[in-house]
Amino acid sequence: MTESYSDPEIAAQAENGQRLNLLGLPRRRLAEVLEPFVDKPYRSTQVYRALYERGVTDLAAMTELSKDLRARLARRFVIRSPEVAARHRSADGTEKYLFRLADGATIEAVDIPDGRRRTLCISSQAGCALACSFCVTGYWGGGRNLTSAEIVSQVMALRDQPQAGTHGLNLVFMGMGEPLLNLDHLRDALDILTEQISRRRITISTAGVVPGIEALARWRRRPRLAISLHAPDDERRERLMPINRRYPLRDLLAALSRYPLEARERLTFEYLLIRDFNDAPADADALVRLLSRLPAKINLIPLNPDPVLGADMRPPAPSRVEAFRRRLKAKGMTATVRKRRGDDVSAACGQLRVPDREPRGRRSSAAQTRQMAATLRPALGPSRR
Ligand code: SAH
Repeated sequence: MTESYSDPEIAAQAENGQRLNLLGLPRRRLAEVLEPFVDKPYRSTQVYRALYERGVTDLAAMTELSKDLRARLARRFVIRSPEVAARHRSADGTEKYLFRLADGATIEAVDIPDGRRRTLCISSQAGCALACSFCVTGYWGGGRNLTSAEIVSQVMALRDQPQAGTHGLNLVFMGMGEPLLNLDHLRDALDILTEQISRRRITISTAGVVPGIEALARWRRRPRLAISLHAPDDERRERLMPINRRYPLRDLLAALSRYPLEARERLTFEYLLIRDFNDAPADADALVRLLSRLPAKINLIPLNPDPVLGADMRPPAPSRVEAFRRRLKAKGMTATVRKRRGDDVSAACGQLRVPDREPRGRRSSAAQTRQMAATLRPALGPSRR
């Protein structure tokens, strides 16, 4: 058959004679790939609903389609989602899922119930190349971008647990990886997910990839944005986050000041509190000064320690965390302290790891910079849309 597809990835798969995965295709592209096979245009809407609303995992189960059509589709298409390889439930109700992807890579996602609300923490990459010194995922090294099917599947697998409704559901892209280094797939996934979950309940957290922030600013269905800040000056931020060399605070804040926000919408700044490093009253003051011109709120995260991070990486005493928050508040800055959840199953922030891979350990700054440059290059290239 000689279909022509506008999407290069889809075209490549079709050319290789592979059966194309329907999962992960947004509405418009699903219609495009199905068009040569279906008798009526609304068939693709039926397939779309079956995929994302009913969570059908087998074409044969789409009984709203004729047997003949199902058979024809099955010759060309599959529905492939990552396998849930393990689930660990924490004493506090938080549940961590380990997914095994088709190429053997593994990722984690976390379901965090909180009263009537529920937050799903989703991964955007298998591993992470940014090598932040406080994060266990980065310690394990770079991985690959997740496909939109792999992103959407995490949400569907966690969401569709029979014991839990979708009421009060929030999505945060704060799992493994840097979402803004995987913009195309993230966008496809969000096209699908925002049809079911308001974009106002979806938050993308970034380490500060400036071109990614600029791209996101142009999206019509923009999610909320959170920025991992963690230090009030370049000198210390660079020690924690090598990406700050590439995109220092001045550039980052300039990009953020141009980011379009709705009325009353604010940017969230995540600020990791590390004992005797960035937890002094003067640091709180510097933070307020730094963010004074932005509509900002701060989410304080007492560092979650981990054996691979070394002994310097410790959280401040709870009283010092509270003092930091009060100081921000006194200066007029909204600040909350993130509750630590899922700790007993290593599901807390910064603890998501690739279990069957050797840690690559700390690397020299030069090596870090080289790897960073290689990682960021694709992000700087022209975007598909
Ligand atoms: N790459 C993105 C999203 C993943 S990290 C980003 O940097 O924002 C999600 C959040 O977990 C970030 O705010 C990150 O800084 C935080 N985090 C990482 N390691 C942590 C640790 N050891 N303790 C507490 N929070 C951590």
